[in-house]
Amino acid sequence: MIREPLIFEISDTGKRAFALPKLDVPPNEERLRDLPIREQIKGFPLVSEVEVIRHFTRLSKTNFCVDEGFYPLGSCTMKYNPKINEKIASILEFTVSHPYAPQDFIQGNLEVLKTTEELLAEVTGMDAVSLQPSAGAQGELVGMMLIRACLEERGDPRKIVLIPDSAHGTNPSSAHICGYRVQEIKSNESGTIDLESLTQNMTEDVAALMITNPNTLGIFEVDIKEITKIVHSKGGFVYMDGANMNALIGVARPGDMDVDVIHLNLHKTFSTPHGGGGPGAGPVGVKNELEPYLPIPIIETKGDRYFLNFDRPKTIGRVRSFYGNFLVIAKALAYILSLGPEGLKEVAEISVLNSNYIRKSLEKDYCLTYATPTFHECVFSDKFQREHGVSNLDIAKRLIDYGLHPPTMSFPLIVRGALMVEPTETESKRDLDLFIDAMKQISIEAKENPDVVKSAPHTSYVRRLDETTAARNPVLRWKEEKEISEQE
Ligand SMILES: *Cc1c(COP(=O)(O)O)cnc(C)c1O
Repeated sequence: MIREPLIFEISDTGKRAFALPKLDVPPNEERLRDLPIREQIKGFPLVSEVEVIRHFTRLSKTNFCVDEGFYPLGSCTMKYNPKINEKIASILEFTVSHPYAPQDFIQGNLEVLKTTEELLAEVTGMDAVSLQPSAGAQGELVGMMLIRACLEERGDPRKIVLIPDSAHGTNPSSAHICGYRVQEIKSNESGTIDLESLTQNMTEDVAALMITNPNTLGIFEVDIKEITKIVHSKGGFVYMDGANMNALIGVARPGDMDVDVIHLNLHKTFSTPHGGGGPGAGPVGVKNELEPYLPIPIIETKGDRYFLNFDRPKTIGRVRSFYGNFLVIAKALAYILSLGPEGLKEVAEISVLNSNYIRKSLEKDYCLTYATPTFHECVFSDKFQREHGVSNLDIAKRLIDYGLHPPTMSFPLIVRGALMVEPTETESKRDLDLFIDAMKQISIEAKENPDVVKSAPHTSYVRRLDETTAARNPVLRWKEEKEISEQE
């Protein structure tokens, strides 16, 4: 395979993508003088149009995307998102709306926001929703700030946040950034919160428990009612990380489990692709007790007119300047309305069914650390393959040779050599079977021909990369770097 050069490497003086015709009138020197025109941009690649097109088309073909195949990245919900939702988000009136437009001009936008808030409140069983946070992690931080604001007003700010050892890394980070000390709660042998450990740690110095349900092992916290009771009895709040809402949507509501505050990932569950580098949204839902603290502005109605209310004395303030991710929210609304209650329920049911189909099909070939039935994702480990010197990284790389995207690796942290598979509801049985067959084949290879797995991938554009160097010293300006190293 030919290595695709960097665009800087094919740059050459005199090349350009297109040229304007020569002026047939004298240039307006005076006007030109005032314009910020640069003679040249240092290091800017000079290439022809066909070179630009071919360069980026070839690069795009080395990428893998959910429109191409199975993408079972656990915890990420890499499902196929219907194109109709993209179409709706690209409606001209949505794409040209401006953050400084007067409120009378954006009544439709405000209606979209307000309706989405109300529908998400309904789906989660919460009393109010704010669409301001831009990501799951920001939603967590906002949720913790709401809890802190409420506790401070009670004159009892507290110091500790309890987090299970299976939690996503953003949970302890958010609690820490909000000024809390994080105390870890051990999981029991079924992979759920140990009630005894929770009771022992749940003191009157604990502001909140951050819980993920179903948790990152894909296991539902069956004792959730008991858990919320224990936390509430000591005056603490229950924060639920709702990134796994795909497993519950339309079937069960965190609000009914007595959760006080939750964030959702619209860029997982609600029709925006995750990990695409584009904008996301991490709405926060709260119960009435925390509602006065929500970020401003709040969208309210007076008669049939929507307006932004900034007059909220207890608010934690603004957590972002504009709804720059408005189109993500428009997609979520289109998704919810097009599926309806029955459709949303089916999302959860089929995502759980698909995950269990994979778990059952592979349970003899790959180690399942927890035997507990799972929800929307299941976590295997490389324990059986390690006997032959094959690791989860090798298995992941070998899957690339089978044309499949690898699952999430090495997370959750409590499973050594984890392979976390989340098939989502959008995969057909045929695609699930392709994955299952590939995984079975790899487990045979690990025994009989481990070298072929350990040296994978063999068919991809690049082989094994030095991931640390790639992250720490990315070569983005090949020519300049080369010139610099030559000078040295
Ligand atoms: C993805 C995820 C998050 C963080 O969401 P971001 O939008 O990436 O910040 C938090 N918790 C869990 C369980 C997740 O899967």
